[in-house]
Amino acid sequence: MKIKRVVIVGGGTAGWMAANHLGVELRRDPEIEITLIESKNIPVIGVGEGTVPKIKETLKKFGISELDLLTCCDATFKQGIKFSNWMDAKKKDVNFYYHPFSSPYPSGFDITNYWLNNRDKFEFSKLSEIYSIAELNRSPKQISSPPFIGVVDYAYHFNAAKFSDLLARNAREKLSVKHRFETIAQVLLHDDGSIKALAYESGIMEEFDFYIDCSGFAALLVGGAMKVPFLDKSSQIQTDTALALQEPTADSDEIQPYTLATAHKAGWIWDIPLTNRRGVGFVYSSKYLSEDEAVQKFSKYVGRDLQNANLRRVPMKIGYRELFWDKNCVALGLAQGFVEPLEATSILVTDFAANLVARNFPSMREDIPVVAGYCNKVMAYTWERVIDFVQLHYFISDRRDSDFWIDNTENAVVSDALRDRLDMWKIGVPKKIDFFSSFDIFGVENYLFVLYGMDYPTRPGVLGVNEESKAKELVRDVQQKSIQMANSLLSHRAWLTELRKALALQSA
Ligand SMILES: Cc1cc2nc3c(=O)[nH]c(=O)nc-3n(C[C@H](O)[C@H](O)[C@H](O)COP(=O)(O)OP(=O)(O)OC[C@H]3O[C@@H](n4cnc5c(N)ncnc54)[C@H](O)[C@@H]3O)c2cc1C
Repeated sequence: MKIKRVVIVGGGTAGWMAANHLGVELRRDPEIEITLIESKNIPVIGVGEGTVPKIKETLKKFGISELDLLTCCDATFKQGIKFSNWMDAKKKDVNFYYHPFSSPYPSGFDITNYWLNNRDKFEFSKLSEIYSIAELNRSPKQISSPPFIGVVDYAYHFNAAKFSDLLARNAREKLSVKHRFETIAQVLLHDDGSIKALAYESGIMEEFDFYIDCSGFAALLVGGAMKVPFLDKSSQIQTDTALALQEPTADSDEIQPYTLATAHKAGWIWDIPLTNRRGVGFVYSSKYLSEDEAVQKFSKYVGRDLQNANLRRVPMKIGYRELFWDKNCVALGLAQGFVEPLEATSILVTDFAANLVARNFPSMREDIPVVAGYCNKVMAYTWERVIDFVQLHYFISDRRDSDFWIDNTENAVVSDALRDRLDMWKIGVPKKIDFFSSFDIFGVENYLFVLYGMDYPTRPGVLGVNEESKAKELVRDVQQKSIQMANSLLSHRAWLTELRKALALQSA
């Protein structure tokens, strides 16, 4: 039986991202109709403002211009993440490191061993030009840079609700995705456990051939109706709550071109600059910190008393669905799983999974078991490696100043895969071939910046004379390029202001 009627339940970032991926991949088949249903009464989660560079490819695929993103979503550029206080403050003069969106291999050469032999002389993240640009709040682009291309690589920060709106407009207007507001009251199943129909509060009942659950943490279809078990990963990732706040900024304020992630005694704080405000969030483990203490610590960070502020408390369910694809239903976004906001993995995994479904979408119902079996294997692997990467940031810290840090380091439960890799990387540097699957969303370059930003103790290899002089030359090159770039690039704020001025002139 041909699959013709596809429904996406949920109009958050995940739902509209799925709508765009399916819209692009399935538009050549005129028999397929895609409908997105969302509830007017159940709001989207409204957080999720940090991305990684892969988002640029996705926007291009959808046919959304960079200009639209920048102007419609209060967007700014993100060149990486600056991790502050993730190590023992007493042992370091500079207690921060960058995970920049660039390669630590200058001109393609792996000089990690050279750095290990000279690790006291300079920080690992200085192997990226982004370090200097970011520290000086420079834009990653020249005024003349083409769309989606910078002098260095970058992603974006944006207003999550406005980003969903932009995706929605694109899906409806360019990709013919149908859109309706309905609140689902009941999900009806066939005898074989697959989904038969959706019953709405309006009294209407509707049948579809295929269902995509993007209903957020509620996981209405895959969890509520189909009872696909949730693999709880809270023993590995212990943060379970976030307090989110929006802080207005002035037009004259500098804009950091990075997410600032500041660790505290029981978690960390995200600080994401948009053009008109900051999104700030206090992530913590409720096992180690009460909400009152969290508000006090958050107040200290923000510099004002937040007792009566408009804080949003967001409980976080850490883990993923055992099956991402069950019968005629796929789960995406928070309905599928969530690790925590560190490293902005959620939109990335949603994007990856939505693309996977759309590219492999079965035309016949009988094809589902084959495709679902494959996709479930891919997603289980992907989730496990994402969890490893996020957990790495806690596990290799030398902080021992609270029970949270002791339990996340000395008493931590980690996967065999992460433990094996870390053992290997004690005796030799991480290499590209250590990552043998293309479903490792985070690869050697990401790991290198985190491992050596956090002083991971790899035994340095012996360097040949030529290797040493070549590496010295490459490091000098990076330093020179960094100075040139820092001198030639506009400030982040100035770049965005110039864009606004140019658009105002055009429309005058
Ligand atoms: C604290 C926090 C910080 C985060 N930060 C980041 C970040 O920096 N970067 C990143 O990549 N990700 C981040 N995320 C994740 C990010 O927020 C999500 O990936 C993203 O918002 C997608 O959410 P969603 O669409 O799955 O769910 P939601 O936004 O919750 O959308 C759910 C949708 O389902 C609909 N719905 C629910 N029930 C019904 C019903 N009965 N009938 C009809 N419709 C229904 C709702 O109306 C809504 O439209 C963060 C998450 C949290 C919790």
